[in-house]
Amino acid sequence: MHDDIKTVLYAEEEILQGIDRVAGEVTESYRGHDFTVVGVLKGSCIFAADLIRRMPIPLELAFVYASSYGAGTESGELEVNFFPSEHEIEGRRLLLVDDILDSGQTMHRLKSEFEARGAAEVKSCVFLDKPSRRALPFEADFRVFEVQNLFVVGYGLDFAGRYRNLPYVGALREEVFTSKV
Ligand code: 5GP
Ligand code: MG
Repeated sequence: MHDDIKTVLYAEEEILQGIDRVAGEVTESYRGHDFTVVGVLKGSCIFAADLIRRMPIPLELAFVYASSYGAGTESGELEVNFFPSEHEIEGRRLLLVDDILDSGQTMHRLKSEFEARGAAEVKSCVFLDKPSRRALPFEADFRVFEVQNLFVVGYGLDFAGRYRNLPYVGALREEVFTSKV
């Protein structure tokens, strides 16, 4: 698996330092308020796990499923399901946590879905942000790193379902795209 990586963009240590910083920002912003962290599956599972363990305040955890990528690297049709139950949404402050904010389609859609289902507030926290790719006006309230327009994998991010378990973020070698798409 490591052989398929061309360059490492963020090493494990740097990632955890970045998450420490953002966890501090999130903690200060929610201190004294009840809230629920809503991880967007599958990509956010690793980030959400590291983030919440650095927030020493009361919080609840929920997940929602969103998928827009097929086997390639371009966004396809967005599929959203497995919403938390009504009582986990209605009147609650929610913090959507995702691996990467790209076109903005996923976060834009999830924010309006959760608002329509009665959430009191919907904010967002993303591990990576690719502002140059935005197709919809959407800005995250919290983000760890800004990245260039480059397809990355690792730390929860996949290519064709693989590489989520890499502990760092990297770019794939070109041969990997051509052999698997
Ligand atoms: P958006 O809806 O903002 O266009 O895209 C969000 C989703 O697209 C992310 O949750 C992620 O699954 C996928 N995505 C966007 N850019 C990348 C990337 O560089 N690498 C990987 N592995 N997935 C990406
Ligand atoms: Mg995703």
